[in-house]
Amino acid sequence: MNKAIFLDRDGVINEEIGEYITRAVDFNVLPHAIEGIKKFNDAGWQVVIITNQGGIAKGLYTAAEVDKMHRLMQQQLAGVNARVDLIYYCPHHPDYGKCLCRKPDSLLVQKALARLRIMPNHAAFIGDKPRDVEAAIGAAVQGYLIEPNENWLPLADEIIQKIS
Ligand SMILES: [Mg+2]
Ligand SMILES: [Zn+2]
Repeated sequence: MNKAIFLDRDGVINEEIGEYITRAVDFNVLPHAIEGIKKFNDAGWQVVIITNQGGIAKGLYTAAEVDKMHRLMQQQLAGVNARVDLIYYCPHHPDYGKCLCRKPDSLLVQKALARLRIMPNHAAFIGDKPRDVEAAIGAAVQGYLIEPNENWLPLADEIIQKIS
């Protein structure tokens, strides 16, 4: 049985700084996130990041810079034998046109479920904004709302125990 944990990025994986993260040097992975991702890896779960990066549409940073942030994150994770399996981001912003992939829409969650062959009831989503939970619910995935930068290790234990 394949299982997947969906994680929002800013405020869940890396420190939410209250503004767009435009440079890789400002991308600080939270220590509990490294531990939490490893926890899911070790329990046999797929780990997926779904993130809105509307700053790309706004011209504040490039997709290449985002990819750089994610490479740095994967390097840090590799240091403890952990990894994120799949990263989907929406590069659009409603000020510059409509898309189907920006949370609270569920398209990226549904895409990941299909690609990894995961049943929605074998997945969960941890996010720090109501739109994260909305995107999960739209794909019939249980969503959990935390505070930005909150330590979600206890929640990870709860989810792993609940879906086993
Ligand atoms: Mg967030
Ligand atoms: Zn989009």
